[in-house]
Amino acid sequence: MTELYIHNGRDVSGAPVAVLITDGVIAEVGTELTVPVGCPTLDAQGCYITAGWIDDHTHCNAHAALYYDDADAIGYRTGVTTVIDAGSTGADNVADLYQQAHRAATNVYALLNIARTGIVAQDELADLNQLSFSALRTAIKRYPDFIVGLKVRVSKSVVGDNGVEPLRVAKQYQADLTVQLPLMVHIGSNPPELAAIIALMRPGDVLTHCFNGKPNGIVNSTGEVAQYVRKAYQKGLIFDVGHGTDSFSFRTAALARTAHLFPQTLSSDIYYRNRLNGPVYSLAVCVEKLLLLGYRLEEIIPMITTNPARIFKLTHKGQLCRGYDADLTIFQTVTAPQIVVDSTGEERIAPTQVIPTYSVIAGRVYTCGVDK
Ligand SMILES: [Zn+2]
Repeated sequence: MTELYIHNGRDVSGAPVAVLITDGVIAEVGTELTVPVGCPTLDAQGCYITAGWIDDHTHCNAHAALYYDDADAIGYRTGVTTVIDAGSTGADNVADLYQQAHRAATNVYALLNIARTGIVAQDELADLNQLSFSALRTAIKRYPDFIVGLKVRVSKSVVGDNGVEPLRVAKQYQADLTVQLPLMVHIGSNPPELAAIIALMRPGDVLTHCFNGKPNGIVNSTGEVAQYVRKAYQKGLIFDVGHGTDSFSFRTAALARTAHLFPQTLSSDIYYRNRLNGPVYSLAVCVEKLLLLGYRLEEIIPMITTNPARIFKLTHKGQLCRGYDADLTIFQTVTAPQIVVDSTGEERIAPTQVIPTYSVIAGRVYTCGVDK
């Protein structure tokens, strides 16, 4: 039996928290626990302890030509214990991503791109011959515990002249599958128009890049969140941040917050280039940006733990509770103002730095920022 006791930490409300882990599972959570003599301990003095962070929009297919990264570089080294690859692969190459996932210390899951090649070029849905329901269904049957959703990218640069047709097909595929899988929809340049995209989306569908600052975003020409967007949100459309190189605007995010439209999930859309050169850098930096917009840590942490776990049915993850997987993120916050930049080039001052210290994955401790 492998045990680990992590203590002297705080939860996001500031209350003391201690966690006992047995064989990769959370055995007990409390303020201070009685533990067996000789149990290894980790002192989390000065740190928060939360459920392991889940980044539900990343690109970690190391063999992709365009958007690629290493799961551990964007995972445990930055405090993220679970990454979901958002459509880098489709039915033809998801097997390769599955093999890579097994070699990573970080938990890796996949949203399957409805285009069977995944993202090999920018315009994977400009050719509708990329769509094959039988190939999609076969892949999902083969990797039921790995594929946790579907992904469709519906912007001009991706669909060419096909408008919303790929999204219509994605919704049909989703309905025809015997398993229920959530659908993540990428938005960006037009056509197709956002109104036409949202008209095809249903409650429970995930709108990623929700706070992009593009003309085809959620904010209309009068500087307000469009009425059809508010209506869809109120009915249950899920807002996912998906920061990325081009898809996060402080202005849009602030306008949405004023309109009481909050993201359910905070994700980075990270890959090596926007990790190394910005503006993404890490999920922790995305947390810093929501803090500067006025969100509290108690509001943000569910966006990277319980909410993505619920939406993508990671039923043993996302909560610091007995019986859940022993995936934890241990991190500090420091009042140290710094300049951060969004995808439009706008700079703002983030008052708080968020510094991951340890990632714990299945009870094993990894020091953030350090190679294996
Ligand atoms: Zn992406």
